[in-house]
Amino acid sequence: MKYTRISINTATPAEARSRVMIIYTGGTFGMTYNESGVLIPFDFSLIKEQLPALRNLFLEITVVSFTNPVDSSNISPEHWKAIGEIIFDNYDLQDGFVVLHGTDTMAFTASAISFMLPNLAKPVIFTGAQLPISQPRSDARENLITALEITSAKLNDKPLVPEVCIYFDYQLLRGNRAKKVESMHFDAFESGNYPVLAKAGVKIDYNLAAIAPAAAGPLRLLSKFDASVSILKLFPGISPQMVEAVLNTNGVKAVIIETFGSGNAPTARWFVESLGAAINRGLILLNVSQCPGGMVEQGRYETSKVLADIGVISGGDITLEAAITKLMLLLAEYDIEGTRARIGVSLAGEMA
Ligand code: ASP
Repeated sequence: MKYTRISINTATPAEARSRVMIIYTGGTFGMTYNESGVLIPFDFSLIKEQLPALRNLFLEITVVSFTNPVDSSNISPEHWKAIGEIIFDNYDLQDGFVVLHGTDTMAFTASAISFMLPNLAKPVIFTGAQLPISQPRSDARENLITALEITSAKLNDKPLVPEVCIYFDYQLLRGNRAKKVESMHFDAFESGNYPVLAKAGVKIDYNLAAIAPAAAGPLRLLSKFDASVSILKLFPGISPQMVEAVLNTNGVKAVIIETFGSGNAPTARWFVESLGAAINRGLILLNVSQCPGGMVEQGRYETSKVLADIGVISGGDITLEAAITKLMLLLAEYDIEGTRARIGVSLAGEMA
């Protein structure tokens, strides 16, 4: 992955109060029209002109931009690796990081980064926009300014939010608890199973009880992913062929069963036998609910007890985005047994 790097001191002639790195990966945020009316990526060296309010934050900003910014539908584990490495390599020199990313897959990338950086003790705040920064009504300006303010916020000289988050439309959410839920309005993200970490109004109100404590120990970087995973989304009327096709996909090691309600699935014999046979072949089956709020409780209904009986693992209250990225990272780090042992245990606050 290639980058360009520029430094902007928004404080001069005063002294900067914080050092923040912005990692620009692409997405709607940075789009602007050139003289011919074509949308092209925004030139970050002009950020002070687009955002005069930056001067009031007194920051020393380093912007690392992907040379080829991507729509986030094209984000891959290679990009996660690149973002993780940039954070890891610059960690000691910065007070925190703002990652500008398309909204479509932001929750996947934020989840991946949260698992990649054990012992993170500084803010990594993802943000983006529903309208390009060049548009008069764009949400890009507020999202970036407040993300920068949160990234540089301190309490007793320590970072106030030492975790991976998404800041969007006046709300700060834990990254691996967030979901994109809206594509037309500005309130694009929600976190059905975890409280909002901060709300930005006249002041930024932090929910200190919900923010993770800073980890101790040196930052680590895990940057390998194994994409031998799949998702089986249930629906009434799903056919045996469809289920078998997913469970028998060549090379697949783990399948997320996206179940109904609190983790329920059909009790038809063919269905249970297909799942049981897959587990006997060594596949990991993880039960994640289609509901954005609430949790999987295998055994609450007869329609989920059978899943527990055959060895399907409960995903508890994890999001699909966190589950898939966690599986990909664990499968790259551990064998099937090691992954099975860790998938149901919280690594970075992604599940209760
Ligand atoms: N398609 C865009 C992306 O995810 C949408 C956005 O940035 O909001 O890159």
